[in-house]
Amino acid sequence: MEIIAIANQKGGVGKTTTAVNLTASLAAKHKNVLLIDLDPQGNATSGTGVDKNELGLTIADVLLDGVSLSDAIVSSPAGFDVIGANRDLAGMDITLMGKADSHELFKTAMADLVNDQVATQKQPYDYVIIDCAPSLNLLTINALVATDGVIIPMQCEYYALEGLADLSQTIERLTELNPKLYIRGVVRTLFDARNTLARDVSAELEAHFGDIMYKTHIPRNIRLAEAPAHGLPVIAYERWSKGARAYQKLAAEVIKQSR
Ligand code: ADP
Ligand code: MG
Repeated sequence: MEIIAIANQKGGVGKTTTAVNLTASLAAKHKNVLLIDLDPQGNATSGTGVDKNELGLTIADVLLDGVSLSDAIVSSPAGFDVIGANRDLAGMDITLMGKADSHELFKTAMADLVNDQVATQKQPYDYVIIDCAPSLNLLTINALVATDGVIIPMQCEYYALEGLADLSQTIERLTELNPKLYIRGVVRTLFDARNTLARDVSAELEAHFGDIMYKTHIPRNIRLAEAPAHGLPVIAYERWSKGARAYQKLAAEVIKQSR
């Protein structure tokens, strides 16, 4: 099982779109995948057709009350498992801060999940994909402490290089809490090949961070923006759209990285 966090402190860069569609594309490639929403906005939850207002249990119950992760799993109509989020997660930061080992609660819960799966002879997950909120709050830190690698969605705009340098530094600092932590890859999102600046920035990213850049560029594609309104990953909404094909290519790259 590999745990992958989708993170970037910036909002609107395609984290949730990547989390949902990477999960769906991995599932379409016969991987057993669990998507965990750690953003109180619950966009990944509703984007997979799960009603965020009807969730029995969320990560909030897991982290605050020691409910087991297995009990918070729902199966999404999109064909994979989801642990949803909603407003119950807002303000958790402050509540969590009072608890001992507050940055390791999620890691412990993940270890228990693995044990539960063995005990109940469930097919183990190949991947757990975590959609993080656009801030380095205690929930995001909990995710980064538990993960094997981070995927950073990044828009090719003027400050991209600086942003990525900052993020690498943050991740470097967090290796103190999680020595395994590393940048698994950076994926260029909302990419418009006709835009000169986007092409230039993309080339610069390649020059400076080539070894961690995924080859796949996710194009700006209207189907990717429309699909969540139908509670569907794009692969189930418009299978042959540019967006759906790009996320399948990205999934293939992610699988290739797995040893
Ligand atoms: P984040 O989770 O980083 O805040 P989102 O994935 O929610 O970002 O994306 C922000 C907005 O941009 C959403 O409305 C989403 O539907 C849209 N979007 C994301 N990626 C694409 C894309 N490749 N093409 C078109 N729209 C996109
Ligand atoms: Mg998001």
